[in-house]
Amino acid sequence: MDKEGKLFNIAKRYLVGGVDSPVRSFNYVGIKPLMIKAGKGARIYDYGNHKYIDYVLSWGVAILGHAHPQVIKSIQQKLDSGISFGTTNETEIELAKEIAQAIPLIKKIRFVSSGTEAVMGAVRLARAYTGRDKIIKFSHSYHGHADYLLAQAGSGLATLQIPSSAGVPKDFIKHTTVVPYSDIGALEEIFKQNNGQIAAVLVEPIGGNYGVLPPDLAFLKKIRILTKKHNTLVIFDEVITGFRFRYGVVCQNFGITPDLICLGKIIGGGLPIGAYGGSEKIMNNLAPVGKVYQASTFSGNPIVMQAGLSTLKIIKKQKDNYQKITDLNKYLCVNLKKIAQTYAVSLELIYYGSMFSFKFQAREQFVKFYRLMFENGIFFAPSEFESNFLSFAHTKNDIENTLSAARKAFKIMEK
Ligand SMILES: *Cc1c(COP(=O)(O)O)cnc(C)c1O
Repeated sequence: MDKEGKLFNIAKRYLVGGVDSPVRSFNYVGIKPLMIKAGKGARIYDYGNHKYIDYVLSWGVAILGHAHPQVIKSIQQKLDSGISFGTTNETEIELAKEIAQAIPLIKKIRFVSSGTEAVMGAVRLARAYTGRDKIIKFSHSYHGHADYLLAQAGSGLATLQIPSSAGVPKDFIKHTTVVPYSDIGALEEIFKQNNGQIAAVLVEPIGGNYGVLPPDLAFLKKIRILTKKHNTLVIFDEVITGFRFRYGVVCQNFGITPDLICLGKIIGGGLPIGAYGGSEKIMNNLAPVGKVYQASTFSGNPIVMQAGLSTLKIIKKQKDNYQKITDLNKYLCVNLKKIAQTYAVSLELIYYGSMFSFKFQAREQFVKFYRLMFENGIFFAPSEFESNFLSFAHTKNDIENTLSAARKAFKIMEK
Protein backbone atom coordinates (compact mmCIF):
# COMPACT_ATOMS: atom_id res chain seq x y z
CA MET A 1 0.00 0.00 0.00
CA ASP A 2 1.23 3.53 -0.73
CA LYS A 3 2.10 6.03 1.97
CA GLU A 4 -1.23 7.88 1.55
CA GLY A 5 -3.21 4.66 1.98
CA LYS A 6 -1.28 3.73 5.10
CA LEU A 7 -1.72 7.18 6.60
CA PHE A 8 -5.42 7.19 5.92
CA ASN A 9 -5.83 3.83 7.64
CA ILE A 10 -4.21 5.25 10.76
CA ALA A 11 -6.25 8.46 10.42
CA LYS A 12 -9.46 6.42 10.41
CA ARG A 13 -8.42 4.74 13.63
CA TYR A 14 -8.14 8.01 15.55
CA LEU A 15 -10.14 10.65 13.68
CA VAL A 16 -13.82 10.27 12.91
CA GLY A 17 -13.93 9.10 9.31
CA GLY A 18 -10.25 9.93 9.14
CA VAL A 19 -10.99 13.67 8.92
CA ASP A 20 -11.83 16.75 10.96
CA SER A 21 -14.41 18.26 8.61
CA PRO A 22 -16.91 16.32 6.46
CA VAL A 23 -16.03 17.59 2.98
CA ARG A 24 -12.45 16.43 3.50
CA SER A 25 -13.65 12.83 3.27
CA PHE A 26 -14.06 13.07 -0.54
CA ASN A 27 -17.17 10.91 -0.10
CA TYR A 28 -19.00 12.79 -2.83
CA VAL A 29 -16.45 11.76 -5.46
CA GLY A 30 -15.87 8.32 -3.93
CA ILE A 31 -12.10 8.44 -3.65
CA LYS A 32 -9.66 8.26 -0.80
CA PRO A 33 -9.14 11.72 0.71
CA LEU A 34 -6.24 13.77 -0.51
CA MET A 35 -3.79 14.47 2.28
CA ILE A 36 -1.61 17.44 1.56
CA LYS A 37 1.95 17.40 2.83
CA ALA A 38 3.17 20.70 1.40
CA GLY A 39 2.25 23.57 -0.83
CA LYS A 40 4.11 26.26 -2.73
CA GLY A 41 2.39 28.90 -4.82
CA ALA A 42 -0.43 27.32 -6.81
CA ARG A 43 0.99 23.81 -6.26
CA ILE A 44 0.34 21.26 -3.56
CA TYR A 45 2.03 17.93 -2.91
CA ASP A 46 0.58 14.81 -1.31
CA TYR A 47 2.50 12.31 0.83
CA GLY A 48 3.30 10.23 -2.24
CA ASN A 49 4.89 13.39 -3.70
CA HIS A 50 2.28 13.73 -6.44
CA LYS A 51 1.93 17.30 -7.60
CA TYR A 52 -1.39 19.07 -8.14
CA ILE A 53 -2.50 22.48 -9.35
CA ASP A 54 -4.60 23.66 -6.42
CA TYR A 55 -8.00 25.28 -7.02
CA VAL A 56 -9.17 24.70 -3.44
CA LEU A 57 -6.56 26.87 -1.73
CA SER A 58 -7.58 25.86 1.76
CA TRP A 59 -11.21 26.62 0.83
CA GLY A 60 -10.50 30.07 -0.49
CA VAL A 61 -7.97 31.15 2.11
CA ALA A 62 -4.66 31.16 0.22
CA ILE A 63 -5.14 34.09 -2.13
CA LEU A 64 -1.37 34.59 -2.45
CA GLY A 65 -0.86 30.89 -3.10
CA HIS A 66 0.83 28.67 -0.53
CA ALA A 67 3.88 29.51 1.56
CA HIS A 68 4.46 33.03 0.30
CA PRO A 69 8.08 33.66 1.38
CA GLN A 70 7.39 37.06 2.99
CA VAL A 71 4.45 35.72 4.97
CA ILE A 72 6.41 32.70 6.15
CA LYS A 73 9.37 34.83 7.13
CA SER A 74 7.25 37.29 9.10
CA ILE A 75 5.59 34.45 11.02
CA GLN A 76 8.95 32.86 11.77
CA GLN A 77 10.32 36.11 13.13
CA LYS A 78 7.22 36.69 15.21
CA LEU A 79 7.46 33.22 16.75
CA ASP A 80 10.70 34.15 18.51
CA SER A 81 8.77 36.51 20.78
CA GLY A 82 6.36 33.84 21.99
CA ILE A 83 3.09 32.47 20.70
CA SER A 84 0.13 33.41 22.83
CA PHE A 85 -0.40 35.80 25.72
CA GLY A 86 -4.14 36.40 25.75
CA THR A 87 -3.73 40.17 25.90
CA THR A 88 -3.91 42.97 23.35
CA ASN A 89 -0.82 43.27 21.15
CA GLU A 90 0.56 45.76 18.64
CA THR A 91 0.12 43.53 15.57
CA GLU A 92 -3.56 43.13 16.42
CA ILE A 93 -3.95 46.90 16.51
CA GLU A 94 -2.16 47.20 13.17
CA LEU A 95 -4.35 44.60 11.50
CA ALA A 96 -7.48 46.28 12.88
CA LYS A 97 -6.26 49.59 11.46
CA GLU A 98 -5.40 48.04 8.09
CA ILE A 99 -8.88 46.51 7.79
CA ALA A 100 -10.62 49.69 8.93
CA GLN A 101 -8.73 51.66 6.28
CA ALA A 102 -9.67 49.19 3.57
CA ILE A 103 -13.32 49.03 4.68
CA PRO A 104 -14.47 52.47 5.90
CA LEU A 105 -17.73 51.02 7.17
CA ILE A 106 -15.78 49.09 9.80
CA LYS A 107 -15.15 51.71 12.46
CA LYS A 108 -14.70 49.09 15.15
CA ILE A 109 -13.75 45.46 14.77
CA ARG A 110 -13.67 42.38 17.00
CA PHE A 111 -11.29 39.52 16.16
CA VAL A 112 -12.24 35.91 16.85
CA SER A 113 -10.76 32.61 15.70
CA SER A 114 -13.16 31.39 13.00
CA GLY A 115 -15.83 32.54 10.58
CA THR A 116 -18.36 30.61 12.64
CA GLU A 117 -17.60 32.71 15.70
CA ALA A 118 -17.67 35.92 13.67
CA VAL A 119 -21.23 35.23 12.52
CA MET A 120 -22.32 34.12 16.00
CA GLY A 121 -20.96 37.36 17.45
CA ALA A 122 -22.58 39.52 14.79
CA VAL A 123 -25.97 37.86 15.24
CA ARG A 124 -25.83 38.19 19.03
CA LEU A 125 -24.92 41.83 18.67
CA ALA A 126 -27.76 42.47 16.19
CA ARG A 127 -30.22 40.82 18.56
CA ALA A 128 -29.05 42.90 21.50
CA TYR A 129 -29.01 46.12 19.48
CA THR A 130 -32.53 45.67 18.13
CA GLY A 131 -33.97 43.94 21.18
CA ARG A 132 -35.43 41.30 18.84
CA ASP A 133 -34.90 37.54 18.47
CA LYS A 134 -35.77 36.56 14.92
CA ILE A 135 -33.28 36.32 12.08
CA ILE A 136 -33.58 35.62 8.36
CA LYS A 137 -31.11 33.65 6.29
CA PHE A 138 -31.31 32.36 2.74
CA SER A 139 -31.53 28.89 1.30
CA HIS A 140 -28.20 27.37 0.23
CA SER A 141 -26.22 29.85 2.27
CA TYR A 142 -23.65 28.77 4.81
CA HIS A 143 -22.70 30.83 7.82
CA GLY A 144 -20.68 28.40 9.90
CA HIS A 145 -21.88 25.66 12.21
CA ALA A 146 -23.75 27.46 15.00
CA ASP A 147 -26.86 25.47 15.96
CA TYR A 148 -29.41 28.11 14.97
CA LEU A 149 -27.78 28.57 11.56
CA LEU A 150 -27.91 24.89 10.64
CA ALA A 151 -31.38 25.25 9.25
CA GLN A 152 -31.11 24.03 5.67
CA ALA A 153 -27.45 24.97 5.34
CA GLY A 154 -25.11 24.70 2.35
CA SER A 155 -22.20 22.69 1.01
CA GLY A 156 -21.04 20.20 3.63
CA LEU A 157 -24.60 19.30 4.46
CA ALA A 158 -25.83 19.31 0.89
CA THR A 159 -22.97 16.99 0.07
CA LEU A 160 -24.13 14.57 2.73
CA GLN A 161 -27.70 15.05 1.47
CA ILE A 162 -29.24 15.68 4.85
CA PRO A 163 -31.44 18.73 5.25
CA SER A 164 -30.02 19.84 8.57
CA SER A 165 -27.81 18.50 11.34
CA ALA A 166 -28.72 15.95 13.96
CA GLY A 167 -28.28 17.25 17.47
CA VAL A 168 -29.86 20.63 16.83
CA PRO A 169 -33.02 21.01 18.95
CA LYS A 170 -36.00 22.38 17.03
CA ASP A 171 -36.28 25.03 19.69
CA PHE A 172 -32.87 26.36 18.78
CA ILE A 173 -33.84 27.16 15.20
CA LYS A 174 -37.29 28.51 15.91
CA HIS A 175 -36.09 32.09 15.54
CA THR A 176 -34.40 31.37 12.21
CA THR A 177 -36.39 31.78 9.01
CA VAL A 178 -34.90 30.48 5.76
CA VAL A 179 -36.07 32.38 2.69
CA PRO A 180 -35.27 31.35 -0.91
CA TYR A 181 -32.52 33.59 -2.29
CA SER A 182 -33.77 36.13 -4.86
CA ASP A 183 -37.39 35.68 -3.80
CA ILE A 184 -38.44 39.29 -3.08
CA GLY A 185 -42.08 38.31 -2.57
CA ALA A 186 -41.21 35.71 0.07
CA LEU A 187 -38.95 38.18 1.87
CA GLU A 188 -41.66 40.86 1.93
CA GLU A 189 -44.15 38.32 3.22
CA ILE A 190 -41.85 37.26 6.08
CA PHE A 191 -41.35 40.88 7.09
CA LYS A 192 -45.09 41.44 7.02
CA GLN A 193 -45.81 38.34 9.14
CA ASN A 194 -43.12 39.25 11.67
CA ASN A 195 -43.56 42.98 11.81
CA GLY A 196 -41.16 44.59 14.28
CA GLN A 197 -39.65 41.24 15.33
CA ILE A 198 -36.75 40.64 12.95
CA ALA A 199 -33.35 41.50 14.36
CA ALA A 200 -31.23 40.82 11.29
CA VAL A 201 -31.01 39.53 7.76
CA LEU A 202 -27.89 37.47 7.23
CA VAL A 203 -26.65 37.14 3.67
CA GLU A 204 -23.63 36.06 1.65
CA PRO A 205 -23.41 38.82 -0.99
CA ILE A 206 -21.93 36.23 -3.34
CA GLY A 207 -22.79 32.68 -2.45
CA GLY A 208 -19.76 30.44 -2.10
CA ASN A 209 -21.11 27.43 -0.33
CA TYR A 210 -23.53 25.90 -2.82
CA GLY A 211 -21.33 26.28 -5.79
CA VAL A 212 -20.85 29.90 -6.78
CA LEU A 213 -23.98 32.00 -6.55
CA PRO A 214 -23.41 35.30 -8.38
CA PRO A 215 -24.91 38.35 -6.71
CA ASP A 216 -28.50 39.39 -7.38
CA LEU A 217 -28.05 43.14 -6.98
CA ALA A 218 -31.73 43.97 -7.20
CA PHE A 219 -32.39 41.48 -4.41
CA LEU A 220 -29.55 42.75 -2.23
CA LYS A 221 -30.84 46.32 -2.68
CA LYS A 222 -34.34 45.18 -1.77
CA ILE A 223 -32.99 43.60 1.41
CA ARG A 224 -31.42 46.94 2.34
CA ILE A 225 -34.63 48.87 1.64
CA LEU A 226 -36.85 46.46 3.57
CA THR A 227 -34.50 46.29 6.54
CA LYS A 228 -34.21 50.07 6.75
CA LYS A 229 -37.97 50.31 6.78
CA HIS A 230 -38.28 47.74 9.57
CA ASN A 231 -35.26 48.83 11.63
CA THR A 232 -33.69 45.44 11.01
CA LEU A 233 -29.92 45.10 10.66
CA VAL A 234 -28.24 43.63 7.59
CA ILE A 235 -25.25 41.39 8.22
CA PHE A 236 -23.08 40.68 5.19
CA ASP A 237 -21.21 37.43 5.64
CA GLU A 238 -18.05 38.21 3.70
CA VAL A 239 -16.01 35.41 5.24
CA ILE A 240 -15.20 34.10 1.74
CA THR A 241 -15.66 37.27 -0.29
CA GLY A 242 -13.70 39.68 1.95
CA PHE A 243 -10.43 40.58 0.15
CA ARG A 244 -11.18 38.00 -2.55
CA PHE A 245 -12.34 40.44 -5.26
CA ARG A 246 -10.83 43.73 -4.18
CA TYR A 247 -8.82 45.23 -1.35
CA GLY A 248 -11.83 45.30 0.92
CA VAL A 249 -15.28 43.75 0.83
CA VAL A 250 -17.46 43.11 -2.17
CA CYS A 251 -20.37 45.22 -0.93
CA GLN A 252 -18.16 48.25 -1.62
CA ASN A 253 -18.51 47.38 -5.31
CA PHE A 254 -22.27 47.15 -5.05
CA GLY A 255 -22.97 50.45 -3.33
CA ILE A 256 -24.90 48.63 -0.62
CA THR A 257 -24.07 49.40 2.99
CA PRO A 258 -24.67 46.63 5.51
CA ASP A 259 -24.76 47.28 9.25
CA LEU A 260 -22.31 44.55 10.17
CA ILE A 261 -19.68 42.69 8.16
CA CYS A 262 -18.23 39.27 8.97
CA LEU A 263 -14.74 38.39 7.80
CA GLY A 264 -12.50 35.32 8.01
CA LYS A 265 -10.48 33.10 5.69
CA ILE A 266 -8.15 35.42 3.71
CA ILE A 267 -7.57 37.95 6.51
CA GLY A 268 -5.78 35.35 8.65
CA GLY A 269 -3.14 34.63 6.02
CA GLY A 270 -3.68 30.88 6.52
CA LEU A 271 -4.06 30.81 10.30
CA PRO A 272 -7.43 30.47 12.10
CA ILE A 273 -9.32 33.77 12.18
CA GLY A 274 -12.69 35.46 12.06
CA ALA A 275 -13.73 39.06 12.62
CA TYR A 276 -16.82 41.20 12.65
CA GLY A 277 -17.18 44.92 12.51
CA GLY A 278 -19.38 47.91 11.84
CA SER A 279 -20.27 51.31 13.19
CA GLU A 280 -19.23 52.40 16.65
CA LYS A 281 -22.85 52.79 17.66
CA ILE A 282 -23.50 49.10 17.08
CA MET A 283 -20.10 47.64 17.99
CA ASN A 284 -19.95 49.51 21.30
CA ASN A 285 -22.70 47.24 22.55
CA LEU A 286 -20.02 44.57 22.93
CA ALA A 287 -18.45 44.03 26.35
CA PRO A 288 -16.41 45.59 27.90
CA VAL A 289 -18.14 48.79 26.68
CA GLY A 290 -21.62 47.30 26.31
CA LYS A 291 -23.62 44.37 27.60
CA VAL A 292 -23.10 41.78 24.86
CA TYR A 293 -20.74 39.09 26.09
CA GLN A 294 -18.28 37.56 23.66
CA ALA A 295 -14.82 36.36 24.60
CA SER A 296 -12.12 34.00 23.39
CA THR A 297 -8.79 32.69 24.64
CA PHE A 298 -7.06 32.90 21.27
CA SER A 299 -8.64 35.96 19.66
CA GLY A 300 -6.11 38.48 18.39
CA ASN A 301 -3.32 35.91 18.68
CA PRO A 302 -0.08 37.65 17.63
CA ILE A 303 1.05 34.95 15.19
CA VAL A 304 -2.34 34.92 13.47
CA MET A 305 -2.40 38.72 13.36
CA GLN A 306 1.09 38.76 11.83
CA ALA A 307 0.13 36.24 9.13
CA GLY A 308 -2.95 38.30 8.33
CA LEU A 309 -1.16 41.64 8.36
CA SER A 310 1.69 40.44 6.13
CA THR A 311 -0.81 38.93 3.71
CA LEU A 312 -2.93 42.07 3.47
CA LYS A 313 0.15 44.24 2.96
CA ILE A 314 1.31 42.06 0.06
CA ILE A 315 -2.16 42.01 -1.49
CA LYS A 316 -2.33 45.79 -1.22
CA LYS A 317 0.87 46.15 -3.23
CA GLN A 318 -0.38 43.72 -5.86
CA LYS A 319 -3.93 44.96 -6.33
CA ASP A 320 -3.61 44.58 -10.11
CA ASN A 321 -3.60 40.84 -9.57
CA TYR A 322 -7.33 40.94 -8.79
CA GLN A 323 -7.98 41.79 -12.43
CA LYS A 324 -5.38 39.29 -13.58
CA ILE A 325 -7.04 36.36 -11.80
CA THR A 326 -10.50 37.51 -12.86
CA ASP A 327 -9.34 37.36 -16.48
CA LEU A 328 -7.58 34.02 -15.99
CA ASN A 329 -10.69 32.61 -14.34
CA LYS A 330 -12.89 33.68 -17.20
CA TYR A 331 -10.44 32.21 -19.71
CA LEU A 332 -10.44 28.93 -17.79
CA CYS A 333 -14.22 28.72 -17.50
CA VAL A 334 -15.04 29.73 -21.07
CA ASN A 335 -12.56 27.21 -22.44
CA LEU A 336 -13.58 24.38 -20.13
CA LYS A 337 -17.10 24.76 -21.43
CA LYS A 338 -15.91 24.89 -25.04
CA ILE A 339 -13.82 21.76 -24.68
CA ALA A 340 -16.69 19.94 -22.98
CA GLN A 341 -18.94 20.87 -25.92
CA THR A 342 -16.38 19.52 -28.39
CA TYR A 343 -16.74 16.14 -26.72
CA ALA A 344 -20.51 16.41 -26.37
CA VAL A 345 -20.42 16.72 -22.57
CA SER A 346 -22.99 19.12 -21.21
CA LEU A 347 -21.35 21.42 -18.67
CA GLU A 348 -22.04 24.87 -17.28
CA LEU A 349 -19.44 26.88 -15.41
CA ILE A 350 -20.69 29.35 -12.87
CA TYR A 351 -18.07 31.97 -12.19
CA TYR A 352 -17.59 35.35 -10.63
CA GLY A 353 -14.27 37.14 -10.16
CA SER A 354 -11.79 34.48 -9.12
CA MET A 355 -14.36 31.87 -8.05
CA PHE A 356 -16.00 29.14 -10.10
CA SER A 357 -18.06 26.00 -9.78
CA PHE A 358 -19.22 23.19 -12.06
CA LYS A 359 -22.69 22.22 -13.09
CA PHE A 360 -22.93 18.92 -14.96
CA GLN A 361 -26.13 17.23 -16.12
CA ALA A 362 -25.67 14.42 -13.62
CA ARG A 363 -23.64 13.79 -10.51
CA GLU A 364 -21.95 10.76 -12.13
CA GLN A 365 -20.50 13.03 -14.79
CA PHE A 366 -19.00 15.35 -12.23
CA VAL A 367 -17.56 12.39 -10.36
CA LYS A 368 -16.05 10.92 -13.52
CA PHE A 369 -14.59 14.28 -14.56
CA TYR A 370 -13.32 14.94 -11.05
CA ARG A 371 -11.45 11.65 -10.82
CA LEU A 372 -9.87 12.00 -14.27
CA MET A 373 -8.68 15.53 -13.48
CA PHE A 374 -7.40 14.43 -10.09
CA GLU A 375 -5.39 11.61 -11.69
CA ASN A 376 -3.92 14.22 -14.00
CA GLY A 377 -2.77 16.48 -11.18
CA ILE A 378 -5.64 18.96 -10.97
CA PHE A 379 -7.17 19.49 -7.55
CA PHE A 380 -10.71 20.88 -7.64
CA ALA A 381 -13.09 21.02 -4.68
CA PRO A 382 -14.38 17.45 -4.25
CA SER A 383 -18.05 18.41 -4.60
CA GLU A 384 -20.10 20.48 -7.04
CA PHE A 385 -21.44 22.36 -4.02
CA GLU A 386 -18.06 23.81 -3.12
CA SER A 387 -16.42 26.74 -4.85
CA ASN A 388 -13.07 26.69 -6.59
CA PHE A 389 -10.64 29.59 -6.41
CA LEU A 390 -7.70 31.14 -8.18
CA SER A 391 -4.78 32.72 -6.36
CA PHE A 392 -2.32 35.42 -7.32
CA ALA A 393 0.16 32.57 -7.84
CA HIS A 394 -1.82 30.92 -10.66
CA THR A 395 -0.30 31.51 -14.09
CA LYS A 396 -1.56 31.28 -17.65
CA ASN A 397 0.55 28.15 -17.90
CA ASP A 398 -1.33 26.54 -14.98
CA ILE A 399 -4.58 27.30 -16.74
CA GLU A 400 -3.32 25.83 -20.03
CA ASN A 401 -2.18 22.68 -18.19
CA THR A 402 -5.61 22.43 -16.60
CA LEU A 403 -7.29 22.78 -20.00
CA SER A 404 -5.03 20.06 -21.48
CA ALA A 405 -6.00 17.73 -18.65
CA ALA A 406 -9.65 18.59 -19.27
CA ARG A 407 -9.28 17.77 -22.98
CA LYS A 408 -8.03 14.30 -22.06
CA ALA A 409 -10.78 13.84 -19.48
CA PHE A 410 -13.66 14.85 -21.75
CA LYS A 411 -12.29 12.66 -24.55
CA ILE A 412 -12.52 9.66 -22.24
CA MET A 413 -15.98 10.73 -21.04
CA GLU A 414 -17.24 10.99 -24.63
CA LYS A 415 -16.63 7.28 -25.26
C1 LIG B 1 -16.14 29.47 5.72
C2 LIG B 1 -17.36 30.27 5.99
C3 LIG B 1 -17.87 30.45 7.28
C4 LIG B 1 -17.32 29.71 8.47
O1 LIG B 1 -15.99 29.99 8.72
P1 LIG B 1 -15.13 28.95 9.60
O2 LIG B 1 -13.80 29.63 9.73
O3 LIG B 1 -15.07 27.68 8.81
O4 LIG B 1 -15.83 28.77 10.89
C5 LIG B 1 -18.94 31.30 7.46
N1 LIG B 1 -19.50 31.94 6.42
C6 LIG B 1 -19.04 31.79 5.16
C7 LIG B 1 -19.67 32.55 4.05
C8 LIG B 1 -17.97 30.94 4.92
O5 LIG B 1 -17.54 30.76 3.67
